Amino acid sequence: MRTIPHWINGAPVTGGTDTIDVLNPATDRAIATVPMADSDTVAAAIAAGVAAFDGWSQATLSKRAHVLFRFRELLLQHRAELAALITAEHGKTLDDAAGEIARAADSIELACGGPALVRGGTSLQSGPNIDTKSVLHPLGVCVGITPFNFPAMMGMMMVSVALAAGNTFVWKPSEQDPGVCVRIAELFTEAGLPAGVLNVVHGRQDAVEHLIDSPDTEAVAFVGSSKVAHIVYQRAAAAGKRVQAFGGAKNHMVVMPDADLDVVADQLTSASFGAAGQRCMAISVAVVVGASAEPLLEKVRVRAEQVRLGAGDADGTEVGPVVSRQSQERIRAAIKEAVAGGATAVVDRSTEEVPGFEAGYFIGPTVLADVEVASAAYQDELFGPVLVVLRVDTLNAALELIRNHRYGNGASIFTRDGAAANEFERRASAGMIGVNVAIPVPVAAYAVQGWKDSAYGDTGLNNASWSFYTRPKYVTSRWDSVAGTDFGFRPN
Ligand code: NAD
Repeated sequence: MRTIPHWINGAPVTGGTDTIDVLNPATDRAIATVPMADSDTVAAAIAAGVAAFDGWSQATLSKRAHVLFRFRELLLQHRAELAALITAEHGKTLDDAAGEIARAADSIELACGGPALVRGGTSLQSGPNIDTKSVLHPLGVCVGITPFNFPAMMGMMMVSVALAAGNTFVWKPSEQDPGVCVRIAELFTEAGLPAGVLNVVHGRQDAVEHLIDSPDTEAVAFVGSSKVAHIVYQRAAAAGKRVQAFGGAKNHMVVMPDADLDVVADQLTSASFGAAGQRCMAISVAVVVGASAEPLLEKVRVRAEQVRLGAGDADGTEVGPVVSRQSQERIRAAIKEAVAGGATAVVDRSTEEVPGFEAGYFIGPTVLADVEVASAAYQDELFGPVLVVLRVDTLNAALELIRNHRYGNGASIFTRDGAAANEFERRASAGMIGVNVAIPVPVAAYAVQGWKDSAYGDTGLNNASWSFYTRPKYVTSRWDSVAGTDFGFRPN
């Protein structure tokens, strides 16, 4: 069986405490093994980053950008191969996986603009014959810890800007689908990235703690569940590191009475069940304002029943399996609990099997109505193809629901009323807002950034992370000679 190695100092390394199997979620079969880093392996990755930092940070901005340009081309050339790796380990469809690679390429494209974007400013005559300027320095070795659901894209949202700004990087991907990350590191090497600038280590909690605690790492970026995001945020802050930690979500879509229900039903079906609901921007709650709930539920029911469940690489599959047996069991238990608690299962395909793939971790689209706001089905992130539908009388009541929820990643509204859209845009308490767009992930030129328990820290990913990956220095200078002592503190 194939071993997915660590990637340290530009080469594969297989050391570790033990290995775990990487399973194909459609078949439950092991397709590779991956070593779990021991402390020496993590230390070697950090040391490689330290050793490479001088050279990479001194390389000109355009030399760094040239590597990123070449890498972007390789990423797109290898799109089908990378998508196949993602599908085999994650379960999502090939088409969806290819879309993930395209989004990863967007982040790299942003970072290709590093020469124009990594710069400070200068003020002439900020004092008498005095100029003040700010310059941006890279930090050193940065750390990225990423989740299973976007194994390529989340890492690229970090690595892109970090490298363009002159940092080196240690990436700790999810142990559930690590194959694509190492292939990406190989492609970076092929693109001319010097050894040690990007390192990949696989591991568990102990590896993450080592990366955070090491005196040789400077910044920690994390994406995953809110529980772990909070732990990482606290630990990195306690170690004196800068940290951005992105967590879970429960994204609401508000449906106004004037919305086109066929469009809404189409959008809800793909946004709730696509990638088996395992997107941090998936819609998991529809809040229907006014009397449209019944007709909308009927339209969603028809669509949910028709969704084609299957292996991610099989022709015609629209929704693949969830990532693990553990996820499958957890989501099924949550649906059972919701129904036992009084929810109505408008559609329940949660125990459906796929012929020929009986061992796969499939969960079919499930729609729950009459869910109590206090229940776990509404409050918790289920991270599966489960849509909760709530009814309210006013936009204000919908906004209250969003405001009171612990998560605030994304929220969207479907309406033809500009005033309602405008009010929603102003008042919805989430970081990413969609108006007639179900999954409003901003382009890389903006940022990925949630609110509340969806993100700890004040910088977003992509174009909002230049300040995270650089530190400013302020230089005050004058070149005329000023004779005579002066013990005052003069105003400018
Ligand atoms: P997870 O929190 O289980 O794991 C994320 C990473 O942390 C993995 O690399 C994992 O190995 C590591 N990890 C796990 N437990 C740890 C611990 N105790 N200490 C240190 N490291 C630990 O998340 P996941 O299941 O891989 O990913 C799904 C989650 O990610 C969902 O909650 C989803 O909403 C979230 N997510 C959020 C965003 C966003 O932009 N906010 C984007 C993608 C995914």
